[in-house]
Amino acid sequence: TSFAELKLAEPIQKALAEEGYTTPTPIQAGAIPYLLEGRDLLGLAQTGTGKTAAFALPILNHIFSNRRPAPPKGVRALVLAPTRELASQIGESFAAYARHMKFSYAVVFGGVGQGRQIEATRRGVDVLVAAPGRLLDLIGQKYIDLSSLEILVLDEADRMLDMGFVRDIQRIMALLPKQRQTLLFSATMPPSISDLAHSLLKDPATVQV
Ligand code: AMP
Repeated sequence: TSFAELKLAEPIQKALAEEGYTTPTPIQAGAIPYLLEGRDLLGLAQTGTGKTAAFALPILNHIFSNRRPAPPKGVRALVLAPTRELASQIGESFAAYARHMKFSYAVVFGGVGQGRQIEATRRGVDVLVAAPGRLLDLIGQKYIDLSSLEILVLDEADRMLDMGFVRDIQRIMALLPKQRQTLLFSATMPPSISDLAHSLLKDPATVQV
């Protein structure tokens, strides 16, 4: 499979060529066709397999192909990640792949002041990358509007559960529109992850690398 065969929009293909990506990795080749169809996905993949682009590219393709007429209010796609380092890396990847299209994003995590994160999210963003605790804080203060969310990604879900985020994740899920596309990525598949997948994913495609 080539990136051209995956039928990603032209500005995304251009950015990938500039990044030096010539061939999709197995998780990308396996997941991207399902995601472009709007399917839910269970992705079993470790860090280093290219899983970030596996979800970022279809999300960007959706945003490019389904432009909102007005300035975006709220958040269109939410990526939950366990740590600030991972959240920051995911944000940088989105920015790199989106460099030739109109796109806005923000990254929120705890351990730093809220001011800049509030400023970055208050007018709405296409993609919000968030650690669960800080996201709940900002939602609770009504700074973040998830009522028009279209796509949800849980990245490194096993690590989020290991870090004790299960209640936070459940609280966030309760606030999201039921009608949405949901993606869950995990390196391992303990019973707690299959339970979470069963409760969140509708008729998911499964891709394991
Ligand atoms: P990840 O597993 O998402 O952390 O990605 C691991 C590394 O692989 C990152 O540095 C990406 O920039 C790089 N990468 C992802 N997809 C590709 C690809 N198709 N071709 C070359 N490098 C890639």
